[in-house]
Amino acid sequence: MKLAHKKPKKNSPVPAVYLHIPFCRHICPFCSFAVRRDRVELHEKYILGMFDEITRRAAWLEEKKQINRELKLSGPKLLESIYFGGGTPSSLKIPEIELLLSQVRNCFPCSDQLEISFEMNPEDVNPDYLSGLAEIGVNRLSLGGQSFQTSTLKKLGRFHSGLELRQALRAIADSAIDNWNLDLMFGIPEQSILMFRTDVEEALSYYPSHISLYGLEIHEKTPFGQNEQIRKWDSEHQQQFEEMYLWATERLEKAGLIQYEVSNFSIKTKEGRNNLLVWSGNEYLGFGVGAHSYLSQTRWGNKCSLNTYLKDLEHNSWPVDFEEHLQVNEQAAESLMLALRQPKGVNIEQWQKRFCLQWKKQQLDLVNELCAAGRAFWKGQYLCLTAKGMLLADRITVELMP
Ligand code: SF4
Repeated sequence: MKLAHKKPKKNSPVPAVYLHIPFCRHICPFCSFAVRRDRVELHEKYILGMFDEITRRAAWLEEKKQINRELKLSGPKLLESIYFGGGTPSSLKIPEIELLLSQVRNCFPCSDQLEISFEMNPEDVNPDYLSGLAEIGVNRLSLGGQSFQTSTLKKLGRFHSGLELRQALRAIADSAIDNWNLDLMFGIPEQSILMFRTDVEEALSYYPSHISLYGLEIHEKTPFGQNEQIRKWDSEHQQQFEEMYLWATERLEKAGLIQYEVSNFSIKTKEGRNNLLVWSGNEYLGFGVGAHSYLSQTRWGNKCSLNTYLKDLEHNSWPVDFEEHLQVNEQAAESLMLALRQPKGVNIEQWQKRFCLQWKKQQLDLVNELCAAGRAFWKGQYLCLTAKGMLLADRITVELMP
């Protein structure tokens, strides 16, 4: 009797892959991401660099798994999400995107339900580009709209106008991709509550399946961070920003967009897959400049300089800027932070047991204060934050760590 040869089952080491495209037509004065001014002649070198990084990382993982088994891979068996972020992924041409996509697909066995999400700027949206994306398998878009008001967009240093955003949204509505997100911003200098409300209402008139709502953050090393007037505006309007956020969370929920994280709202089943996987503590790999990865309780981040990134790859070394193995207390803080940023909250008893931690009087008093102030509440064993509490989620996490 012949025994059938058993083929080894193919696994993906991670369920989520992030691809960072750093190019932007110009750099917005508030931006703190790993970005650089776009130069088309750099695209090919960069894409080939990323291609190399993907290939080598996949081979390295395979080797680790087979030789010393020190890498204890967990999580699902197939890749469920590929996310193109930036920067501006839509600065690339369709064949360039396809090359990266096909290499990720070659290296990591994919689920049939794979979500391929792609960030776009409104000025790059046109019917041909959208059908090109759909043809290569992109099935979710994320549009960096921010506002419908040209004056607000100018203040932000954005390249598109309100008119271009409307045209982009109409083109997306007519395209084959029906799962899409619109980014909206609040807390922009000189943006009134009424202006922001008008933005939210106009966004809803396009029936988005997802909205990401971001408060403008002022980072020290950016032109906004160096601008005293802007910093003053920011510190004097915190109350107004809270009002904008609380109004929007209610308005979006009324329109059927359920909040599933501090900044993210979606209709049922259209939550961003990458978001869900990462926030549930799953492992992920990031490729490209400044991209972060998390595997076997180790986090690493790539170098942000494009030249150094490419040089390291050319010399056959990893373009890694930092690598840290998360200690138990860091894992506990991260798990608490991720859970508190989601409406389902955190099962405190399980969390304490898992990380061998015990809350003291100080943490219990803080929770009571948060509940009394309408920022938190108990749902059985779960501690949840209200919309008012979510605004302070990161600070609350720090204070709740024993
Ligand atoms: S377009 Fe987006 S990523 Fe690029 S500079 Fe502006 S904010 Fe940053």
